[in-house]
Amino acid sequence: MAGQVEKVIIIGSGPSGWTAAIYAARADLKPLVYEGAVTEKNRQQGTGPLGQLNLTTEVENFPSWPAGDTRAYLKTSLPEELQPYWVSANKPQPTHGINGPELMELMRQQAKNFGTRVITDDIVKVDFKKKPFELYTLGGETVQALTVIIATGARANYLGLPSEDRFKNLGVSACAVCDGALPRFRNKPLVVVGGGDSAVEEGSYLTKFATEVALVVRRDTLRASKIMAQRAKTNSKIKLRWNSVVEEVVGNDKDGVTTVRIKDLKTGKVDDYAAAGMFCAIGHTPNTSFLDGQLDLNENGYIKWTTAARTFTSIEGVFAAGDVSDDYYRQAVTAAGTGCMAALDAERYLGHHGLI
Ligand code: NAP
Repeated sequence: MAGQVEKVIIIGSGPSGWTAAIYAARADLKPLVYEGAVTEKNRQQGTGPLGQLNLTTEVENFPSWPAGDTRAYLKTSLPEELQPYWVSANKPQPTHGINGPELMELMRQQAKNFGTRVITDDIVKVDFKKKPFELYTLGGETVQALTVIIATGARANYLGLPSEDRFKNLGVSACAVCDGALPRFRNKPLVVVGGGDSAVEEGSYLTKFATEVALVVRRDTLRASKIMAQRAKTNSKIKLRWNSVVEEVVGNDKDGVTTVRIKDLKTGKVDDYAAAGMFCAIGHTPNTSFLDGQLDLNENGYIKWTTAARTFTSIEGVFAAGDVSDDYYRQAVTAAGTGCMAALDAERYLGHHGLI
């Protein structure tokens, strides 16, 4: 049974979700955030609490975080149990900017400081035909809200090979930061598929553990930004495999992945590359399946803003922010920006309808 009707429910806990929460809380809307459940499915898909930045290393392009020792700041701004390991262990700071997971904990804390309530669960179904809107959680609760901000982001894609599926958790991953330090990947060659910023970031990170990293790029150029592309080209442990695709992942139950079959599209030559793992960094799919077709999506499956430069969706009172509605910019700072916009849009909607 549903309890009180919430003024605003925010689904998602990346930069857009927390920024929406900070703005909504400061507007006294008492936001309730569903930050995602801690489940094996979410871990494998990369859809758990704190979003994609929680699965990354250094964030160098979120303004206000230049290189520096943030130890004292983290000590005073986060509670004891959320201190990064390197602060509590008094180890040197490992960042050039700020680590993604720390940035996310700081955003979450900032939202909580203004009274945001946080529930560690997934919203698995919605009913936007009802007023107030009804939302259903994985844990079996029903909640009602006058407005909803969807900030569920996007998750990493896999290639879709049957052999890739077989070796998930046995050497195939879409998150180097989550899995890269596992013993199975140490001191062995590894493969990263993709040519964007994520591929370069994952590849660079994996060079800490691997003997070498083959970066398998399907064209003869990287999509990555100039600074990241330069990083890939100058890292002696990264071997660029241009015009190439992965045809199959080979291995066994005991050792997991042992070989990645790479085909050169220009020559047709197939190389059985001895590698202990394959990491996919080939783009993202927006997390919209729980909407079950109730909102209009664009041709790439992202939630459509129905009015330019507004976070309005095809249902009045439902707003979308961050990567779930952005297949173009997809940056932490733009997600935060649209999270702010969504909270302001929700506040204005509530005011306009005499609901606050
Ligand atoms: P992306 O920019 O969309 O790049 C995806 C890459 O995967 C492209 O090289 C693409 O090749 C390749 N690809 C797609 N499908 C493939 C397939 N089936 N087989 C083989 N290759 C495939 O995605 P992203 O790298 O995840 O980046 C997403 C956004 O996050 C971007 O806006 C990026 O700037 C941002 N980001 C920034 C940073 C940073 O600044 N440090 C780090 C991570 C992500 P084609 O080029 O041929 O299409």
